[in-house]
Formats: sequence, structure tokens, C-alpha cells
Amino acid sequence: MQSKAIIVVGSGISGLTAAYRLQQQGHRVTVLEEQGRFGGRMGEGRIRDIQFAYGARLLYPFSKPTIGLVRELGLQPSLVPIRKLGADCGQGGENWRIELMPGVQSLLTPGLSLAERARFIAFGARLLALRTRTNPDDLTSAVEYDDETLASFIARVLGPRVLERMVEPTFRGTRSWNPEEISAAFFMSTTPHLIGQDTVYGFRKGMGEMPQALAALLDVRLNCPVTAIETGEGKPRVTYLAQGRQVTEEPDLVVAAVEGSLVRGLVHGLEAEDRAFFEGVRYNSLGIVHYALGSDIAPAMRFFTRDTKGPLSTYQQVPARPGRPAQIYAQLTPEAEREALASANPLGFDGPVAEQVKDLLPAFETNRADSYNQRIARKLPIFYPGYARKLRAFLDRQASQPRRVYYCGDYLAQALVTGAVSSGMAVAQAIARDWA
Ligand SMILES: Cc1cc2nc3c(=O)[nH]c(=O)nc-3n(C[C@H](O)[C@H](O)[C@H](O)COP(=O)(O)OP(=O)(O)OC[C@H]3O[C@@H](n4cnc5c(N)ncnc54)[C@H](O)[C@@H]3O)c2cc1C
Repeated sequence: MQSKAIIVVGSGISGLTAAYRLQQQGHRVTVLEEQGRFGGRMGEGRIRDIQFAYGARLLYPFSKPTIGLVRELGLQPSLVPIRKLGADCGQGGENWRIELMPGVQSLLTPGLSLAERARFIAFGARLLALRTRTNPDDLTSAVEYDDETLASFIARVLGPRVLERMVEPTFRGTRSWNPEEISAAFFMSTTPHLIGQDTVYGFRKGMGEMPQALAALLDVRLNCPVTAIETGEGKPRVTYLAQGRQVTEEPDLVVAAVEGSLVRGLVHGLEAEDRAFFEGVRYNSLGIVHYALGSDIAPAMRFFTRDTKGPLSTYQQVPARPGRPAQIYAQLTPEAEREALASANPLGFDGPVAEQVKDLLPAFETNRADSYNQRIARKLPIFYPGYARKLRAFLDRQASQPRRVYYCGDYLAQALVTGAVSSGMAVAQAIARDWA
């Protein structure tokens, strides 16, 4: 294949993966990133002594392309296995454990009726059968579950207590999705591949290790916000800022690896159907308070049922490590997040959070040393009912003929690091196919 000049816009894990694969194909690739750091929603930051993640904290084990890439980058020794990850949950004096990888132990959840327990076992068999038909890196592989909300699907198939005590706290606590706002497609494309697994992974130096390893092999230009990508006849035009100066380039091809909701503001000359698709890409946002503590603390993690009073969906105690104090991770519920956004001070959400943390940790007031309110404007794409079908149609249209502008990102595959990696690989494959 003739070597092409390709600009990748966005240095999240999908853009870096695409750039890396395209460079391996012999193309001349430049990555332009708006921020002063690469990795997007995968990496770590630090404010004073407080360490926090910009996004992902775990790598799921079920994605062959991602695990293959980790190996290829020589990062396997950096993987830190985390076994039997779960959270405590409780309601009305009853306490139970929610395992992130559901299994037989989930049957011990108190309050489930006999019928619900029996349905749970039968459902396990149904999920196992779905393993060969679904792909955890591809939301559209479960497109037949796209019409019903996850809340209605779980209540109908497994029972209302399974929804209330297991699925809802997990989805609100990890993904900040309310089950009534998304379809069952994410659940049905990923859960079959979690059965029998009990291990997820972190990286020794943090999730940022993976983007860092990729960026080290690439020409990544930071602090270069792209202001326009113009498409039409011939080569695309990319306009961006570099050290305050406006620069325009005409590469052969562009890969837009930005969050999907930003595309319509960035790409000029979109076809009407594609514009309609991008207008339908939405993300949730998230507020987190990170507290640094003066003395060490035992590890703990807690999710909350919907009827728990207070603004938290996840509460985590993280023990001290060399160079880092003990910390508390306090994540807002979707409702508390909306309330904060609608208030006069959208970053002022730590007051109600501190009240709830005090109830969970009596020594909090005397132990609290510092805090940082983090807001993530675009946490995850919202896979609302109907989204997977629109996505399938968009991907089919994209594959129907060679393009000058390609797209990748989690919103085109799965709302996980693994989905973003697969999407980056898919775009490199599409370019190889279209421009061979
Ligand atoms: C709080 C949180 C927790 C998560 N937890 C997990 C988890 O535990 N496990 C998991 O698998 N996934 C998790 N995820 C999801 C995962 O982080 C994402 O799916 C994945 O990182 C998305 O990668 P991406 O490349 O698609 O997008 P992004 O990482 O968002 O990359 C887009 C990049 O484009 C850049 N950009 C935007 N506009 C421009 C412009 N105009 N010019 C130049 N650059 C631009 C952005 O700065 C960014 O770097 C989590 C996400 C969040 C936010």
C-alpha cells in the first residue's frame, strides 16, 4: 500500500491504537491532542498530594485484541490482577456483597425470592449460550436487546429484586448509568463474557501506562486543539492551533478519535445521515470528591441502592501507598450530578458528600486533610434504547465505500477501554481495506 499522510485527532486510547496500527502499515501518522497530556479518559493526574484517574481504573479481561496489544507493547509484566472485585451494599439493616463478575455467589444476595433465584440460574445458561454470538467489544453484537431498557429487561427476566439489589447499584456505581436510561445491549454483549472470570486488571504505574507506551512510539503533538476538519472533494483540511498559531494541513486521510458528541462541531461537510447519527451521540457527566486523609485507612468499597439517602453511588477507601496518603473516592449519583450541574456552583458538591462520608467513616472529620472535586464532562456514551441500531447503520454506511475521514472511539464499539482499543484497530483495518 502507498504510504499516506494521516492525521489522528485525539490521543485517547482509541486514537493512539489507530495511530500505532496505521504507522505499522507504513503510513506517516501525526496525532494532534487538545490537552497537555495524552490518554484522554485513561491516565492519572495529581493535585497536591491527591492522586486521581481521568477515567478508567480497570481493564476487563475479555477483549482478545486489547490483551494482544498489551502483550505486543511488552506491558504484560505491568498488569496487576485484581481478583474477586466487589462492593458491599445494604438496605434496611441487610448487607450483601455485589461481585463485579456475577456468579453463583450472587445467589446469596438476601431478599431474592425463590423464583428469582431459579430464574437467575436459568439466565446463567442463557448467557453462556450467548458467548459465541456476542462480542464484548461490540455493542451491536447484542442489537436484538436494543429496544428495551435494561431496567425493564432485568425486572422482566430476572425479577425486580435482582434489579434493585444487584444490577442497579452496580451500573450506577461503576458506569453512572441508570438502568432505565440505557438499553439491555451493553449488559447482554458484555455479561456473557464475564461468567467464570474472577479477575480484572490494573497497571502497576496506573492505567496511563498503556497510552504512554503507545505515545512513546508515535508523533503525538500535545496542546494542539483541532478547530476544524473540512471534508468534501479531494483531501481533507485540518485546522489546529499550535503555540497560539493557526495551522492548516491537508493530509491524505484523517481519523477523528474525539468523543462522539464533539464530531458535529468539528467536522464540516458531514453527510446528512452521518450528521443525524452524531447528533444522537450523548455522554453522561460525573462529579467525584477525592479526600486525602491524615492517617491510614482499611480498604473498602461500597455501592448504594436507589433508596439510600445521600448523594453517593460509590464510596471507596484507598489505603496509603508510598508517596500518596490514604484517600477516599466519593462518586456522585446521576441525580446528585444533575443537581450539581443545575446549581449556581457546579463544582461545589462536596458539602452534601462530606455529610454522607461522615456517616460512613466516623473518624472522617478529624482525619480529613485535603480534598479535590473532579468533574468529568463526558464520562461514558449513553447507550439509550435504539442507539445500537443507529450505530449499526452508521458503521455499515462507513464500510460501504472508501472515506477520507474515519472515526473511532468507545461510542462506536463499547463504553470501555477494550471497546475503544477495538475501535482504533477497526479503523486501521478499514483504511488498509479501503486504500490497498
Ligand atoms: C470516570 C471513568 C471511569 C471509567 N472506568 C472504566 C473502567 O474501569 N474500565 C474500562 O474499561 N473503561 C472505563 N471507562 C471508559 C474508558 O475510559 C473509555 O471508554 C476510553 O478511555 C475512551 O477512549 P477514547 O479514545 O474513545 O476517548 P477519549 O479517551 O475521550 O479520547 C478522546 C481524546 O480526544 C481529545 N480531543 C477532543 N477534542 C479534541 C480536539 N478538538 N482536538 C484535539 N484533540 C481533541 C481529548 O482531549 C481526548 O484526549 C471509564 C471512563 C470514565 C470517564
